[in-house]
Amino acid sequence: MNAPVPQTTNSAPVETFDVEAVNRRSRQKLYQARVKVFPKRAQGFYRQLKWVIMAVTLGIYWITPWLRWDRGPYAPDQAVLVDIGNRRFYFFFIEIWPQEFYYVAGLLIMAGLGLFLVTSVAGRAWCGYTCPQTVWTDLFIWVERLIEGDRNARMKLDNAPWGVGKIAKRVAVHATWLLIAVATGGAWIFYFADAPTLLGDFVTLEADPIAYITVGVLTATTYVFAGFMREQVCTYMCPWPRIQGAMLDEDSLLVTYNDWRGEPRSRHQKKAAAEGLDVGDCVDCAACVVVCPMGIDIRDGDQLECITCSMCIDACNTVMDKVGRPQGLISYTTLRDYNAHTAEAKAAGRSTATAHQRSIGVSHIVRPRTLLYFGLWSLIGLAMLVSLLMRDRLDINAIPDRNPLYVTLSDGSIRNGYTLKILNMMAEPRSFEVALDGLNGATMWFAGDDSHGARAIAVDVEPDRLREIKVFVSQPADTVSSGLTGFDFTVRDLAGSESGSAAADFYAPEN
Ligand code: SF4
Ligand code: SF4
Repeated sequence: MNAPVPQTTNSAPVETFDVEAVNRRSRQKLYQARVKVFPKRAQGFYRQLKWVIMAVTLGIYWITPWLRWDRGPYAPDQAVLVDIGNRRFYFFFIEIWPQEFYYVAGLLIMAGLGLFLVTSVAGRAWCGYTCPQTVWTDLFIWVERLIEGDRNARMKLDNAPWGVGKIAKRVAVHATWLLIAVATGGAWIFYFADAPTLLGDFVTLEADPIAYITVGVLTATTYVFAGFMREQVCTYMCPWPRIQGAMLDEDSLLVTYNDWRGEPRSRHQKKAAAEGLDVGDCVDCAACVVVCPMGIDIRDGDQLECITCSMCIDACNTVMDKVGRPQGLISYTTLRDYNAHTAEAKAAGRSTATAHQRSIGVSHIVRPRTLLYFGLWSLIGLAMLVSLLMRDRLDINAIPDRNPLYVTLSDGSIRNGYTLKILNMMAEPRSFEVALDGLNGATMWFAGDDSHGARAIAVDVEPDRLREIKVFVSQPADTVSSGLTGFDFTVRDLAGSESGSAAADFYAPEN
Protein backbone atom coordinates (compact mmCIF):
# COMPACT_ATOMS: atom_id res chain seq x y z
CA MET A 1 0.00 0.00 0.00
CA ASN A 2 1.47 3.39 -1.00
CA ALA A 3 1.03 6.27 1.42
CA PRO A 4 0.60 9.76 -0.02
CA VAL A 5 3.72 11.84 -0.06
CA PRO A 6 3.54 15.56 0.75
CA GLN A 7 4.11 18.06 -2.06
CA THR A 8 7.76 18.95 -2.36
CA THR A 9 9.35 22.09 -3.69
CA ASN A 10 12.46 20.22 -4.98
CA SER A 11 11.12 19.45 -8.45
CA ALA A 12 12.91 19.08 -11.77
CA PRO A 13 11.60 20.81 -14.91
CA VAL A 14 9.05 18.79 -16.82
CA GLU A 15 8.79 18.88 -20.61
CA THR A 16 5.27 19.62 -21.75
CA PHE A 17 3.78 18.73 -25.14
CA ASP A 18 1.03 20.34 -27.18
CA VAL A 19 -0.77 17.27 -28.36
CA GLU A 20 -4.34 16.05 -28.53
CA ALA A 21 -5.52 12.45 -28.40
CA VAL A 22 -6.35 11.13 -31.86
CA ASN A 23 -9.74 9.87 -30.69
CA ARG A 24 -11.01 13.08 -29.06
CA ARG A 25 -14.73 13.39 -29.82
CA SER A 26 -14.35 17.05 -30.75
CA ARG A 27 -12.03 16.06 -33.61
CA GLN A 28 -13.96 13.12 -34.93
CA LYS A 29 -15.98 13.26 -38.11
CA LEU A 30 -18.02 10.39 -39.51
CA TYR A 31 -15.23 9.43 -41.90
CA GLN A 32 -12.13 10.54 -40.05
CA ALA A 33 -8.81 10.39 -41.90
CA ARG A 34 -6.04 8.70 -39.97
CA VAL A 35 -4.11 11.03 -37.67
CA LYS A 36 -0.46 9.96 -37.79
CA VAL A 37 0.92 8.83 -34.45
CA PHE A 38 4.60 9.42 -33.62
CA PRO A 39 5.12 7.62 -30.29
CA LYS A 40 7.94 8.97 -28.17
CA ARG A 41 10.20 6.44 -26.53
CA ALA A 42 9.16 5.71 -22.95
CA GLN A 43 11.57 4.63 -20.26
CA GLY A 44 10.78 2.54 -17.24
CA PHE A 45 9.85 -0.88 -15.96
CA TYR A 46 7.08 -1.65 -18.50
CA ARG A 47 9.18 -0.50 -21.46
CA GLN A 48 11.95 -2.84 -20.32
CA LEU A 49 9.45 -5.64 -19.89
CA LYS A 50 8.18 -5.05 -23.43
CA TRP A 51 11.72 -5.19 -24.85
CA VAL A 52 12.27 -8.53 -23.10
CA ILE A 53 8.94 -9.96 -24.28
CA MET A 54 9.60 -8.73 -27.82
CA ALA A 55 13.01 -10.41 -27.87
CA VAL A 56 11.60 -13.68 -26.49
CA THR A 57 8.55 -13.85 -28.81
CA LEU A 58 10.50 -12.91 -31.95
CA GLY A 59 13.29 -15.28 -30.92
CA ILE A 60 10.81 -18.15 -30.52
CA TYR A 61 9.22 -17.38 -33.89
CA TRP A 62 12.46 -17.19 -35.85
CA ILE A 63 14.47 -19.90 -34.10
CA THR A 64 11.86 -22.66 -33.63
CA PRO A 65 11.92 -24.09 -37.21
CA TRP A 66 15.68 -24.56 -36.91
CA LEU A 67 15.51 -26.67 -33.75
CA ARG A 68 16.19 -30.36 -34.35
CA TRP A 69 14.67 -33.36 -32.54
CA ASP A 70 15.93 -36.90 -33.09
CA ARG A 71 13.00 -39.21 -33.88
CA GLY A 72 15.10 -41.96 -35.43
CA PRO A 73 15.73 -42.74 -39.11
CA TYR A 74 12.07 -43.02 -40.14
CA ALA A 75 10.73 -39.59 -39.09
CA PRO A 76 11.78 -35.98 -39.72
CA ASP A 77 14.20 -34.44 -37.24
CA GLN A 78 12.61 -30.98 -37.16
CA ALA A 79 11.35 -30.25 -33.62
CA VAL A 80 8.21 -28.39 -34.75
CA LEU A 81 6.85 -29.35 -38.15
CA VAL A 82 3.46 -29.24 -39.82
CA ASP A 83 3.98 -31.96 -42.43
CA ILE A 84 0.99 -31.35 -44.69
CA GLY A 85 2.14 -33.87 -47.35
CA ASN A 86 2.17 -36.75 -44.87
CA ARG A 87 -0.62 -35.27 -42.74
CA ARG A 88 1.36 -35.14 -39.49
CA PHE A 89 2.07 -32.48 -36.89
CA TYR A 90 5.33 -32.90 -34.96
CA PHE A 91 5.93 -30.99 -31.75
CA PHE A 92 9.12 -32.17 -30.08
CA PHE A 93 8.27 -35.64 -28.67
CA ILE A 94 4.62 -35.45 -29.72
CA GLU A 95 3.37 -36.63 -33.11
CA ILE A 96 -0.23 -35.86 -34.00
CA TRP A 97 -2.08 -37.79 -36.72
CA PRO A 98 -5.08 -36.36 -38.59
CA GLN A 99 -7.52 -38.51 -36.56
CA GLU A 100 -6.00 -37.01 -33.39
CA PHE A 101 -6.81 -33.46 -34.41
CA TYR A 102 -8.83 -33.13 -31.21
CA TYR A 103 -5.51 -32.44 -29.47
CA VAL A 104 -5.09 -29.34 -31.61
CA ALA A 105 -8.72 -28.39 -30.85
CA GLY A 106 -7.94 -28.90 -27.13
CA LEU A 107 -4.89 -26.65 -27.43
CA LEU A 108 -6.99 -23.96 -29.11
CA ILE A 109 -9.58 -24.19 -26.31
CA MET A 110 -6.76 -23.89 -23.76
CA ALA A 111 -5.38 -20.86 -25.61
CA GLY A 112 -8.86 -19.28 -25.53
CA LEU A 113 -9.33 -19.97 -21.82
CA GLY A 114 -5.80 -18.68 -21.15
CA LEU A 115 -6.71 -15.47 -22.94
CA PHE A 116 -9.91 -15.18 -20.86
CA LEU A 117 -7.85 -15.73 -17.70
CA VAL A 118 -5.22 -13.11 -18.57
CA THR A 119 -7.90 -10.62 -19.62
CA SER A 120 -9.94 -11.03 -16.46
CA VAL A 121 -6.76 -10.46 -14.39
CA ALA A 122 -4.95 -7.76 -16.35
CA GLY A 123 -7.21 -6.53 -19.16
CA ARG A 124 -5.70 -6.55 -22.64
CA ALA A 125 -2.22 -7.69 -21.54
CA TRP A 126 -2.17 -9.97 -24.59
CA CYS A 127 -2.73 -6.96 -26.88
CA GLY A 128 -0.15 -4.80 -25.13
CA TYR A 129 2.68 -7.28 -24.90
CA THR A 130 2.42 -10.43 -27.00
CA CYS A 131 0.00 -9.92 -29.93
CA PRO A 132 2.00 -10.19 -33.19
CA GLN A 133 0.49 -6.90 -34.37
CA THR A 134 1.85 -5.14 -31.26
CA VAL A 135 5.24 -6.87 -31.34
CA TRP A 136 5.93 -6.19 -35.03
CA THR A 137 4.61 -2.60 -34.82
CA ASP A 138 6.91 -2.00 -31.85
CA LEU A 139 9.81 -3.41 -33.87
CA PHE A 140 8.99 -1.21 -36.87
CA ILE A 141 8.75 1.89 -34.63
CA TRP A 142 12.13 0.96 -33.11
CA VAL A 143 13.64 0.90 -36.63
CA GLU A 144 11.99 4.23 -37.45
CA ARG A 145 13.32 5.75 -34.24
CA LEU A 146 16.81 4.37 -34.88
CA ILE A 147 17.03 5.93 -38.35
CA GLU A 148 14.89 9.06 -38.09
CA GLY A 149 15.14 9.87 -34.38
CA ASP A 150 12.57 10.16 -31.60
CA ARG A 151 9.14 11.75 -31.86
CA ASN A 152 10.12 15.39 -32.50
CA ALA A 153 12.73 14.49 -35.12
CA ARG A 154 10.28 12.16 -36.87
CA MET A 155 7.54 14.78 -36.91
CA LYS A 156 9.97 17.37 -38.23
CA LEU A 157 11.15 15.03 -40.96
CA ASP A 158 7.57 14.14 -41.86
CA ASN A 159 6.69 17.82 -42.33
CA ALA A 160 9.93 18.67 -44.14
CA PRO A 161 9.95 18.99 -47.96
CA TRP A 162 11.44 16.08 -49.89
CA GLY A 163 15.20 16.35 -50.24
CA VAL A 164 18.22 14.05 -50.32
CA GLY A 165 18.34 13.64 -46.54
CA LYS A 166 14.64 12.81 -46.19
CA ILE A 167 14.69 10.42 -49.14
CA ALA A 168 17.79 8.63 -47.79
CA LYS A 169 16.24 8.19 -44.35
CA ARG A 170 12.90 7.05 -45.73
CA VAL A 171 14.56 4.55 -48.08
CA ALA A 172 16.59 3.17 -45.17
CA VAL A 173 13.47 2.81 -43.00
CA HIS A 174 11.37 1.13 -45.68
CA ALA A 175 14.20 -1.13 -46.82
CA THR A 176 14.69 -2.32 -43.22
CA TRP A 177 10.94 -2.81 -42.78
CA LEU A 178 10.86 -4.87 -45.97
CA LEU A 179 13.77 -7.00 -44.80
CA ILE A 180 11.97 -7.70 -41.51
CA ALA A 181 8.73 -8.41 -43.40
CA VAL A 182 10.50 -10.87 -45.75
CA ALA A 183 12.15 -12.56 -42.75
CA THR A 184 8.72 -12.80 -41.10
CA GLY A 185 7.08 -14.42 -44.11
CA GLY A 186 10.17 -16.52 -44.73
CA ALA A 187 10.20 -17.95 -41.22
CA TRP A 188 6.56 -19.00 -41.50
CA ILE A 189 7.11 -21.41 -44.41
CA PHE A 190 9.90 -23.19 -42.52
CA TYR A 191 7.28 -24.55 -40.12
CA PHE A 192 5.83 -26.58 -43.02
CA ALA A 193 8.93 -28.31 -44.44
CA ASP A 194 12.45 -29.24 -43.44
CA ALA A 195 13.87 -25.75 -42.88
CA PRO A 196 17.45 -26.20 -44.19
CA THR A 197 16.24 -28.04 -47.31
CA LEU A 198 13.50 -25.50 -48.00
CA LEU A 199 15.91 -22.59 -47.54
CA GLY A 200 18.24 -24.13 -50.14
CA ASP A 201 15.36 -24.72 -52.55
CA PHE A 202 13.94 -21.26 -51.90
CA VAL A 203 17.10 -19.32 -52.73
CA THR A 204 17.81 -21.43 -55.81
CA LEU A 205 14.21 -20.85 -56.98
CA GLU A 206 13.41 -24.56 -56.80
CA ALA A 207 10.82 -24.36 -54.02
CA ASP A 208 7.11 -25.00 -54.62
CA PRO A 209 5.30 -21.89 -55.94
CA ILE A 210 3.06 -21.90 -52.85
CA ALA A 211 6.17 -21.11 -50.75
CA TYR A 212 6.84 -17.95 -52.79
CA ILE A 213 3.17 -16.96 -52.69
CA THR A 214 3.03 -17.44 -48.90
CA VAL A 215 6.18 -15.40 -48.33
CA GLY A 216 4.83 -12.70 -50.66
CA VAL A 217 1.48 -12.46 -48.88
CA LEU A 218 3.03 -12.43 -45.38
CA THR A 219 5.67 -9.91 -46.43
CA ALA A 220 2.98 -7.59 -47.76
CA THR A 221 0.70 -7.94 -44.71
CA THR A 222 3.58 -7.47 -42.23
CA TYR A 223 4.86 -4.41 -44.11
CA VAL A 224 1.42 -2.80 -44.40
CA PHE A 225 0.01 -3.75 -40.96
CA ALA A 226 3.10 -2.86 -38.91
CA GLY A 227 4.41 -0.05 -41.10
CA PHE A 228 1.29 1.84 -42.09
CA MET A 229 -1.91 0.64 -40.44
CA ARG A 230 -0.55 0.04 -36.92
CA GLU A 231 -3.13 1.21 -34.35
CA GLN A 232 -5.90 1.02 -36.98
CA VAL A 233 -5.62 -2.78 -37.03
CA CYS A 234 -6.34 -2.87 -33.29
CA THR A 235 -9.09 -0.26 -33.40
CA TYR A 236 -10.99 -1.23 -36.54
CA MET A 237 -10.01 -4.72 -37.68
CA CYS A 238 -9.48 -6.82 -34.57
CA PRO A 239 -12.61 -8.18 -32.83
CA TRP A 240 -10.82 -8.69 -29.50
CA PRO A 241 -11.39 -5.13 -28.13
CA ARG A 242 -15.13 -5.72 -28.52
CA ILE A 243 -15.09 -9.18 -26.95
CA GLN A 244 -12.84 -8.36 -24.02
CA GLY A 245 -15.48 -6.16 -22.36
CA ALA A 246 -17.41 -9.31 -21.43
CA MET A 247 -14.39 -10.70 -19.58
CA LEU A 248 -13.63 -7.71 -17.42
CA ASP A 249 -15.11 -7.18 -14.00
CA GLU A 250 -14.55 -4.62 -11.29
CA ASP A 251 -11.55 -6.58 -9.99
CA SER A 252 -9.69 -6.68 -13.32
CA LEU A 253 -6.49 -4.66 -13.36
CA LEU A 254 -6.62 -1.92 -15.98
CA VAL A 255 -4.27 0.90 -16.88
CA THR A 256 -6.04 3.79 -15.16
CA TYR A 257 -5.49 7.48 -14.71
CA ASN A 258 -6.20 8.08 -11.02
CA ASP A 259 -8.04 11.32 -11.41
CA TRP A 260 -8.87 11.33 -7.71
CA ARG A 261 -5.29 12.43 -7.15
CA GLY A 262 -4.52 13.99 -10.55
CA GLU A 263 -7.34 16.52 -10.84
CA PRO A 264 -7.63 19.40 -11.13
CA ARG A 265 -4.64 19.24 -13.42
CA SER A 266 -2.41 22.27 -13.87
CA ARG A 267 0.61 23.13 -15.98
CA HIS A 268 1.62 25.65 -13.35
CA GLN A 269 1.33 23.42 -10.37
CA LYS A 270 3.90 25.10 -8.14
CA LYS A 271 2.53 28.58 -8.76
CA ALA A 272 -1.03 27.38 -8.21
CA ALA A 273 -0.04 25.60 -5.00
CA ALA A 274 1.82 28.71 -3.80
CA GLU A 275 -1.36 30.72 -4.44
CA GLY A 276 -3.29 28.24 -2.31
CA LEU A 277 -5.24 26.84 -5.25
CA ASP A 278 -6.50 23.29 -5.05
CA VAL A 279 -4.45 21.37 -7.66
CA GLY A 280 -3.93 17.67 -8.27
CA ASP A 281 -0.75 15.81 -9.15
CA CYS A 282 -1.21 15.97 -12.93
CA VAL A 283 1.00 18.70 -14.37
CA ASP A 284 -0.80 18.39 -17.71
CA CYS A 285 2.46 17.72 -19.53
CA ALA A 286 0.91 15.20 -21.95
CA ALA A 287 3.94 12.93 -21.60
CA CYS A 288 1.45 10.07 -21.27
CA VAL A 289 -0.16 11.00 -24.60
CA VAL A 290 3.03 11.33 -26.65
CA VAL A 291 4.35 7.90 -25.67
CA CYS A 292 1.05 6.18 -26.43
CA PRO A 293 1.34 4.00 -29.57
CA MET A 294 -2.42 4.38 -30.02
CA GLY A 295 -2.24 8.17 -29.79
CA ILE A 296 -4.89 8.38 -27.06
CA ASP A 297 -5.07 10.18 -23.74
CA ILE A 298 -5.56 7.78 -20.84
CA ARG A 299 -6.88 10.70 -18.79
CA ASP A 300 -10.07 10.49 -20.87
CA GLY A 301 -10.83 7.19 -19.09
CA ASP A 302 -10.92 3.55 -20.18
CA GLN A 303 -11.09 3.41 -23.98
CA LEU A 304 -11.61 0.82 -26.69
CA GLU A 305 -8.31 1.86 -28.30
CA CYS A 306 -6.19 1.26 -25.17
CA ILE A 307 -4.12 -1.90 -25.62
CA THR A 308 -2.83 -1.80 -22.02
CA CYS A 309 0.80 -1.44 -23.06
CA SER A 310 1.56 0.67 -19.95
CA MET A 311 3.84 3.11 -21.76
CA CYS A 312 1.81 5.93 -20.21
CA ILE A 313 2.54 4.50 -16.75
CA ASP A 314 6.28 4.67 -17.41
CA ALA A 315 6.04 8.19 -18.84
CA CYS A 316 3.97 9.50 -15.94
CA ASN A 317 6.14 7.81 -13.32
CA THR A 318 9.14 9.65 -14.79
CA VAL A 319 7.22 12.91 -14.53
CA MET A 320 6.11 12.17 -10.95
CA ASP A 321 9.74 11.51 -10.01
CA LYS A 322 10.67 14.88 -11.46
CA VAL A 323 7.99 16.82 -9.62
CA GLY A 324 8.58 14.91 -6.40
CA ARG A 325 5.22 13.18 -6.20
CA PRO A 326 4.63 9.46 -5.63
CA GLN A 327 4.59 7.26 -8.71
CA GLY A 328 1.32 5.65 -9.78
CA LEU A 329 -0.77 8.62 -10.93
CA ILE A 330 -1.35 6.31 -13.89
CA SER A 331 -1.26 2.72 -12.71
CA TYR A 332 -2.74 -0.75 -12.97
CA THR A 333 -5.89 -0.33 -10.88
CA THR A 334 -9.18 -2.16 -10.49
CA LEU A 335 -12.50 -0.40 -10.82
CA ARG A 336 -13.25 -1.39 -7.21
CA ASP A 337 -10.08 0.28 -5.92
CA TYR A 338 -10.62 3.29 -8.14
CA ASN A 339 -14.14 3.77 -6.79
CA ALA A 340 -12.93 3.35 -3.20
CA HIS A 341 -10.19 5.94 -3.71
CA THR A 342 -12.59 8.36 -5.34
CA ALA A 343 -15.08 7.98 -2.47
CA GLU A 344 -12.29 8.38 0.09
CA ALA A 345 -10.98 11.47 -1.64
CA LYS A 346 -14.46 12.97 -1.91
CA ALA A 347 -15.20 12.32 1.74
CA ALA A 348 -11.95 13.95 2.78
CA GLY A 349 -12.52 16.91 0.52
CA ARG A 350 -9.05 16.76 -0.98
CA SER A 351 -7.77 13.84 -2.93
CA THR A 352 -3.99 13.76 -2.75
CA ALA A 353 -3.82 14.51 0.92
CA THR A 354 -6.01 11.64 2.03
CA ALA A 355 -6.48 8.85 -0.43
CA HIS A 356 -4.17 5.87 -0.19
CA GLN A 357 -3.19 4.02 -3.32
CA ARG A 358 -3.45 0.27 -2.93
CA SER A 359 -0.81 -1.92 -4.50
CA ILE A 360 -1.59 -5.05 -6.51
CA GLY A 361 -2.20 -8.02 -4.23
CA VAL A 362 -3.07 -11.71 -4.45
CA SER A 363 -6.76 -10.87 -4.01
CA HIS A 364 -6.69 -9.04 -7.36
CA ILE A 365 -5.63 -12.23 -9.07
CA VAL A 366 -7.18 -15.09 -7.06
CA ARG A 367 -10.96 -14.73 -7.22
CA PRO A 368 -13.91 -16.90 -8.32
CA ARG A 369 -13.81 -15.93 -11.98
CA THR A 370 -10.07 -16.44 -12.39
CA LEU A 371 -10.20 -19.66 -10.38
CA LEU A 372 -12.94 -20.94 -12.69
CA TYR A 373 -10.93 -20.10 -15.82
CA PHE A 374 -7.78 -21.58 -14.31
CA GLY A 375 -9.65 -24.71 -13.15
CA LEU A 376 -11.10 -25.32 -16.63
CA TRP A 377 -7.75 -24.60 -18.26
CA SER A 378 -5.94 -27.03 -15.95
CA LEU A 379 -8.61 -29.70 -16.34
CA ILE A 380 -8.41 -29.66 -20.15
CA GLY A 381 -4.60 -29.58 -19.99
CA LEU A 382 -4.50 -32.51 -17.60
CA ALA A 383 -7.01 -34.54 -19.62
CA MET A 384 -4.96 -33.95 -22.77
CA LEU A 385 -1.72 -34.88 -21.06
CA VAL A 386 -3.14 -38.14 -19.65
CA SER A 387 -4.70 -38.99 -22.99
CA LEU A 388 -1.41 -38.23 -24.79
CA LEU A 389 0.55 -40.47 -22.46
CA MET A 390 -1.96 -43.30 -22.72
CA ARG A 391 -2.90 -43.11 -26.38
CA ASP A 392 -2.51 -46.14 -28.64
CA ARG A 393 0.17 -46.18 -31.31
CA LEU A 394 -1.55 -49.06 -33.07
CA ASP A 395 -4.96 -49.36 -34.66
CA ILE A 396 -6.90 -51.92 -36.69
CA ASN A 397 -10.02 -51.62 -38.76
CA ALA A 398 -11.96 -54.39 -40.52
CA ILE A 399 -14.15 -53.70 -43.56
CA PRO A 400 -16.18 -56.69 -44.81
CA ASP A 401 -16.67 -57.41 -48.52
CA ARG A 402 -20.19 -56.49 -49.55
CA ASN A 403 -20.39 -58.31 -52.81
CA PRO A 404 -20.57 -61.23 -52.37
CA LEU A 405 -21.32 -61.31 -48.64
CA TYR A 406 -20.13 -64.94 -48.50
CA VAL A 407 -18.97 -67.76 -50.74
CA THR A 408 -19.77 -71.47 -50.22
CA LEU A 409 -16.63 -73.49 -50.97
CA SER A 410 -16.59 -76.99 -52.53
CA ASP A 411 -16.15 -78.67 -49.12
CA GLY A 412 -19.22 -76.84 -47.78
CA SER A 413 -17.31 -74.35 -45.65
CA ILE A 414 -18.32 -70.68 -45.80
CA ARG A 415 -15.81 -67.99 -46.70
CA ASN A 416 -16.03 -64.22 -46.04
CA GLY A 417 -13.58 -61.57 -47.30
CA TYR A 418 -12.32 -58.55 -45.34
CA THR A 419 -10.01 -55.58 -45.87
CA LEU A 420 -7.93 -55.02 -42.76
CA LYS A 421 -6.35 -51.62 -42.16
CA ILE A 422 -3.47 -51.82 -39.70
CA LEU A 423 -2.01 -48.54 -38.56
CA ASN A 424 1.52 -48.36 -37.17
CA MET A 425 1.76 -44.91 -35.54
CA MET A 426 5.37 -45.30 -34.43
CA ALA A 427 8.44 -44.11 -36.30
CA GLU A 428 9.89 -47.63 -36.59
CA PRO A 429 8.95 -50.79 -38.53
CA ARG A 430 6.82 -53.21 -36.51
CA SER A 431 5.65 -56.82 -36.83
CA PHE A 432 2.17 -57.72 -35.67
CA GLU A 433 0.19 -60.87 -35.15
CA VAL A 434 -3.36 -60.62 -36.47
CA ALA A 435 -5.63 -63.29 -35.02
CA LEU A 436 -9.26 -64.38 -34.90
CA ASP A 437 -11.08 -64.11 -31.61
CA GLY A 438 -14.33 -66.09 -31.63
CA LEU A 439 -15.87 -67.78 -34.67
CA ASN A 440 -15.37 -71.37 -33.63
CA GLY A 441 -13.11 -73.48 -35.90
CA ALA A 442 -12.53 -70.65 -38.40
CA THR A 443 -9.17 -69.99 -40.05
CA MET A 444 -7.80 -67.01 -41.98
CA TRP A 445 -5.28 -66.37 -44.78
CA PHE A 446 -4.04 -63.58 -47.04
CA ALA A 447 -5.90 -63.27 -50.33
CA GLY A 448 -3.77 -65.02 -52.95
CA ASP A 449 -2.20 -67.38 -50.41
CA ASP A 450 -3.66 -70.84 -50.77
CA SER A 451 -2.32 -72.31 -47.53
CA HIS A 452 -5.76 -71.71 -46.01
CA GLY A 453 -4.17 -71.10 -42.88
CA ALA A 454 -4.48 -70.67 -39.31
CA ARG A 455 -6.09 -68.75 -36.51
CA ALA A 456 -3.34 -66.07 -36.74
CA ILE A 457 -1.10 -64.50 -39.38
CA ALA A 458 1.97 -62.24 -39.13
CA VAL A 459 1.93 -58.78 -40.73
CA ASP A 460 4.80 -56.29 -41.08
CA VAL A 461 3.98 -52.59 -41.24
CA GLU A 462 6.40 -49.83 -42.20
CA PRO A 463 7.09 -46.95 -39.78
CA ASP A 464 4.38 -44.32 -39.55
CA ARG A 465 2.26 -46.09 -42.14
CA LEU A 466 -1.15 -47.61 -42.69
CA ARG A 467 -1.09 -51.07 -44.30
CA GLU A 468 -4.14 -52.44 -46.05
CA ILE A 469 -4.40 -56.22 -46.45
CA LYS A 470 -7.08 -58.37 -47.98
CA VAL A 471 -7.84 -61.52 -45.93
CA PHE A 472 -10.29 -64.42 -46.20
CA VAL A 473 -11.88 -66.14 -43.21
CA SER A 474 -13.60 -69.47 -43.56
CA GLN A 475 -15.59 -71.58 -41.15
CA PRO A 476 -16.15 -75.34 -41.66
CA ALA A 477 -19.65 -76.43 -42.57
CA ASP A 478 -20.09 -78.39 -39.33
CA THR A 479 -19.43 -75.36 -37.09
CA VAL A 480 -20.97 -72.56 -39.11
CA SER A 481 -24.06 -70.86 -37.67
CA SER A 482 -26.89 -69.62 -39.77
CA GLY A 483 -27.05 -65.83 -40.51
CA LEU A 484 -24.78 -63.34 -38.80
CA THR A 485 -22.10 -64.19 -36.22
CA GLY A 486 -19.96 -61.56 -34.50
CA PHE A 487 -16.24 -62.02 -33.83
CA ASP A 488 -13.06 -59.89 -33.44
CA PHE A 489 -9.84 -59.44 -35.34
CA THR A 490 -7.12 -58.87 -32.73
CA VAL A 491 -3.72 -57.37 -33.40
CA ARG A 492 -0.67 -57.66 -31.15
CA ASP A 493 2.78 -56.12 -31.41
CA LEU A 494 5.19 -59.08 -31.55
CA ALA A 495 8.00 -57.02 -29.98
CA GLY A 496 5.98 -55.09 -27.44
CA SER A 497 2.88 -55.22 -25.32
CA GLU A 498 0.56 -53.06 -27.37
CA SER A 499 -2.56 -54.66 -28.81
CA GLY A 500 -5.90 -53.78 -30.31
CA SER A 501 -9.02 -55.28 -31.85
CA ALA A 502 -11.70 -54.63 -34.42
CA ALA A 503 -15.21 -56.08 -34.31
CA ALA A 504 -16.48 -57.83 -37.46
CA ASP A 505 -19.45 -59.91 -38.63
CA PHE A 506 -19.35 -63.27 -40.40
CA TYR A 507 -22.15 -63.92 -42.91
CA ALA A 508 -23.52 -67.38 -43.61
CA PRO A 509 -26.68 -68.51 -45.45
CA GLU A 510 -29.93 -68.59 -43.42
CA ASN A 511 -31.12 -72.13 -42.81
S1 SF4 B 1 -3.34 4.66 -22.98
FE1 SF4 B 1 -1.46 3.90 -22.02
S2 SF4 B 1 -1.77 1.70 -21.84
FE2 SF4 B 1 -3.32 2.48 -23.24
S3 SF4 B 1 -2.41 2.18 -25.24
FE3 SF4 B 1 -1.91 4.26 -24.62
S4 SF4 B 1 0.06 4.10 -23.61
FE4 SF4 B 1 -0.74 2.04 -23.78
S1 SF4 C 1 -1.02 12.00 -16.23
FE1 SF4 C 1 1.17 12.19 -15.82
S2 SF4 C 1 2.15 12.15 -17.80
FE2 SF4 C 1 0.00 12.49 -18.15
S3 SF4 C 1 -0.21 14.68 -18.31
FE3 SF4 C 1 -0.57 14.18 -16.19
S4 SF4 C 1 1.40 14.31 -15.22
FE4 SF4 C 1 1.79 14.29 -17.39
